[in-house]
Amino acid sequence: MHINHDFAPQRAHEHYFDAQATEQVRPEAIAALNLAFHEFGNAGAINHGLGRRSRQALEDARDQIAGFVNAPPEAVFFTSGATEANNIVLQSLAVQGRGRVVASAIEHKSVIEPLTYAADRGAQVAFCPVAPDGLVYLETLHSYVTGASALSVMHANNEIGTIQPIEAIRHAAPDALLHVDAAQSFSKVPVDFEQLGLDFLTLSAHKIGGPQGIGALVVRPSRIANLQPLFRGGAQEAGLRPGTTPVALVVAMAAAAKVAMEERDQQAARLGALRDRMITAFSRLPGFFVNGSLEQRLAGNLNCGFEGIDALLLMRRVPHLLFSAGSACTTGNVTNHVLDALGLPNARQRATFRLSLGWATSPADVDAAITGIEGAVSHFTSFRRAS
Ligand code: PMP
Repeated sequence: MHINHDFAPQRAHEHYFDAQATEQVRPEAIAALNLAFHEFGNAGAINHGLGRRSRQALEDARDQIAGFVNAPPEAVFFTSGATEANNIVLQSLAVQGRGRVVASAIEHKSVIEPLTYAADRGAQVAFCPVAPDGLVYLETLHSYVTGASALSVMHANNEIGTIQPIEAIRHAAPDALLHVDAAQSFSKVPVDFEQLGLDFLTLSAHKIGGPQGIGALVVRPSRIANLQPLFRGGAQEAGLRPGTTPVALVVAMAAAAKVAMEERDQQAARLGALRDRMITAFSRLPGFFVNGSLEQRLAGNLNCGFEGIDALLLMRRVPHLLFSAGSACTTGNVTNHVLDALGLPNARQRATFRLSLGWATSPADVDAAITGIEGAVSHFTSFRRAS
């Protein structure tokens, strides 16, 4: 595995720990983008060579991405990202569909909000609880999904990194259409569309070292009739996503996915060891806690805090460490829906922060995080002792 540290995007003294917000773009993706911008044809203009070459590049990328999730190429539809893919599915199933749609309480807002929008307009929607470790309660899931038409469960959570047991969830809900948002898990842990018996699967490029603004929705071919496009006005992506397909972004997504898949298991082991080094170091400090299961979890996620230390104040002491406070996605609110669903008291929510590691995270970054956070915590605890 080759990590090119000359490629550091941030200022030299900064250390990036926000890979789950967006991952550093891989050099392979940038090279693919560059090449595709030179071969700039419209993949719909297949009456000339440039257009045909673009179409070929698009279809090759589609084949590759389909292969990585074990789905047929005709099941893959490119979108502007996971938000759009989630909206196509949930708006189709809840806003325009019939029957009850169930989702876990810790879904990303791009699943929750189309559903609450639909519920406000009379759709039947239910959110199933998760246990304090962040995993869906399989026992209660059964009662939620009985008679439901569709179920949406994310694979890995973007805040606490917990990985849902999709296979068991599929068994608990054999009759529901199943949508899985794999924006955070694709190329980090195995995602197998066929084996999991999925109907819809959401992917995003910028969580895996591809560019922002591109993703995909994978649809079981027999379920395509259950979906309606959000836009109308073209035949691209079989009419499910009209508009000129951004071939350069698509090929860059495939290039990032290729490397990420090749490195997947090695990176999981490497990042898990780096993450565990932080846990060991932080465990020596007073009041340390981790949110969510440590076993069923992405290797690159640490969602944690120190009792009584406000995460935003802690962050201000270590501006060279680039990470997120627990409620970063809902700035201005003191609580957030994921931590609420875990039953985390407000005081712990305020203390919560997320360090997320990615392909470019180095041992030196982790050393800096440990030293920086140890210093900040000792500042606050000695301050508390003095006052
Ligand atoms: N779902 C999950 C689980 C995510 O983490 C994100 C990104 N935070 C999204 C959906 C939205 O992804 P995109 O930025 O590609 O729209």
